[in-house]
Amino acid sequence: MSEGERALVLFSGGQDSTVALAWALSRFQKVETLGFDYGQRHRVELDQRPIVLGRIKTEFKDWSRRLGQDHVLKLDVLKDLGGSALTDAVAIGMGAQGLPTTFVPGRNLLFFTLAAAVAYRRGIKRLVGGMCETDYSGYPDCRDDTLKALQAAINLGMDKRFVIDTPLMWIDKAGTFALGEELGGDAFLTLLIEETHTCYEGDRKHRQDWGYGCGKCPACALRAGGWERYVAARKETRGGWGWRP
Ligand code: ZN
Repeated sequence: MSEGERALVLFSGGQDSTVALAWALSRFQKVETLGFDYGQRHRVELDQRPIVLGRIKTEFKDWSRRLGQDHVLKLDVLKDLGGSALTDAVAIGMGAQGLPTTFVPGRNLLFFTLAAAVAYRRGIKRLVGGMCETDYSGYPDCRDDTLKALQAAINLGMDKRFVIDTPLMWIDKAGTFALGEELGGDAFLTLLIEETHTCYEGDRKHRQDWGYGCGKCPACALRAGGWERYVAARKETRGGWGWRP
């Protein structure tokens, strides 16, 4: 198997990275996953990771053959840096820089650099992430230009030819649900709703139409809006989610 047939997916256990994982599993022969334990305030995403992977293994035969090793790297240094609502007791909102307080400066730069280091050792060429700049939270390290520049820097710095793939870059959250359906049908949408976690408050008590979450934080608002638009579009053609003739 050539390096180009192997992919490493930045997999957090959230909705976007789970769709990015499905995208990779539909294209590449061997797909490994990488997560980071960086002292997140809420460890729910980390807890959901093995659950999502387990369900992919048992419920999706074609994908299960391709799903390889899962890696989790400790990245405590991000918590040591502090000052983010994702790692500290900071209120979620807009910060002084015009960026949400959930912003962890340079996080994706670190994540992809470390992913490339793992991929280098494991003979993997494709690095896949669920970043998106269409209806994103304003994080500059999710932008297409940032990641293209990073790809060039990593390739120069490691003397390799990695390709950073971001299949969600130009679609919105409704498009992410639609892509999920295209890749894995309603079974995969069900998995997305039931098991992936995006809520910044770490809420897995409240079950909304689109999954578990507080329903109020910016991540829940994005997910809820995307689901609403996706179901509305689906209703026009097929009677909506859960509709049976
Ligand atoms: Zn929430």
